[in-house]
Amino acid sequence: MVGLSLTRGHGRHDEDGIAAAPARRAAFRRIHNRLVNIPNKLDRSLFVRFTNKMTAAGAQRSLPSTIAPTLSPATRGTGFADTTTQGFASGRALRPSAKVLPEHARSHNRSLVLQTLYRAGQQSRADISRSTGLTRVTISDLVGEFIAEGLIVETGQREDARPGKPATLLDINRTAFQIVGIDLSDYAMFQGAVLDLDGTILQRREVALAGSTGDEATAKVADLVGQLVRLATRPILGIGVGSPGVVDLAGTVLSAPNLGWTDLHLQSVLEDVFALPVVVGNDANAAVLAEHSFGGADRDMMLVKIGHGVGAGLLLGGTPLFGSRFAAGEIGHVVVGTEGGMACVCGKSGCLETWLAVPRLESALAAASNSARDLVLADAGRHLGLALAPVVGALNLAEIVLSGPTHLLDGPLAAATIETLRNRTMAEFHGDLTLRMTTLGEDIVVRGAAVMVLSGQLGVS
Ligand SMILES: [Zn+2]
Repeated sequence: MVGLSLTRGHGRHDEDGIAAAPARRAAFRRIHNRLVNIPNKLDRSLFVRFTNKMTAAGAQRSLPSTIAPTLSPATRGTGFADTTTQGFASGRALRPSAKVLPEHARSHNRSLVLQTLYRAGQQSRADISRSTGLTRVTISDLVGEFIAEGLIVETGQREDARPGKPATLLDINRTAFQIVGIDLSDYAMFQGAVLDLDGTILQRREVALAGSTGDEATAKVADLVGQLVRLATRPILGIGVGSPGVVDLAGTVLSAPNLGWTDLHLQSVLEDVFALPVVVGNDANAAVLAEHSFGGADRDMMLVKIGHGVGAGLLLGGTPLFGSRFAAGEIGHVVVGTEGGMACVCGKSGCLETWLAVPRLESALAAASNSARDLVLADAGRHLGLALAPVVGALNLAEIVLSGPTHLLDGPLAAATIETLRNRTMAEFHGDLTLRMTTLGEDIVVRGAAVMVLSGQLGVS
């Protein structure tokens, strides 16, 4: 509980400022290292990546390889390497690249217990044992640790007619922590929120971008995070940031032209300022996590985010896809078709963005007569379908979710997209593909940024 009061101090960061950060950081590191069983010698920048690694069985990547621990037989039992033949398994890497240490197995099992409660809500120790495949003894042991750490609480006794002693119910202590989520994807405004562990938005703040780029834009991010950190009323589990552009797994924004950022170590900059765990990821990748956690999305899905530009996030077998240069889902500057097309900011012609980006769509609509409006939208939708058909064919996706202005996307545009996809893929395998609007509206990136923190710090999503 010492840890909770220490971390709660960050809510008053303005009083003693950044000067006190090193001491706090050390204290914070000690507590969090204990929470996730990491030796103290590890520094915290490693810690964020390390925890991410540990939350996934056989992790291959440094960010959430599997955003939630799976309940596959391979990960049951004590969690030690299973020597039986496993065949293919969704979300499991083909070639192991690191040995599984006993302490990693323990962390995996901790995440498994938390994940079970996070999604299912109140359960007894016996329920958790049944659904995770872990023994009653292991569950009692882990639950004891979590209760001591304040992460799990006993919520009462089950009222049922079964004979014998009623079971004690447990739940994640959903009010123990809060999360700061930041969305940098809007070209006019940086937006952020304080969220609870269920992803509910408790407080909002925004900062007008007013054309800022480079260091000035970075300072505005820090200003927004600072405002939200001060608004938090519980210890902060971490800060999640969804940024436009290409972001590597260490939270470095490799390139975000609109903000004038190249190789900006945004994650470590914010870690240094706030002495809290920080996860920075691409905005569309954040959005896809939100859709998976809060929108009921399928494990094999693509989220297409249409705004000032066009980007996408991919989830395959419940695992986020980042790609060889962290640019998976960057479909905006893929040229669609062979008939040329409009000039694009990137120098090519006929990029998907020239059909679909909101400013392009709005100017096309402004130039069209009322009767031609639907044709303009359908034409944009058809081009989206053309771009997505090979992706759907190659990956056998179950679902495509669109995020952006509903009045533009939901109607002739979406209808033309799905029709084009149906005409260009095999009905036998792709006929039940669904395409829909997100239900998360404009909060999708902020809530996805919170999922990045939940996944990184607790292994739940
Ligand atoms: Zn382009």
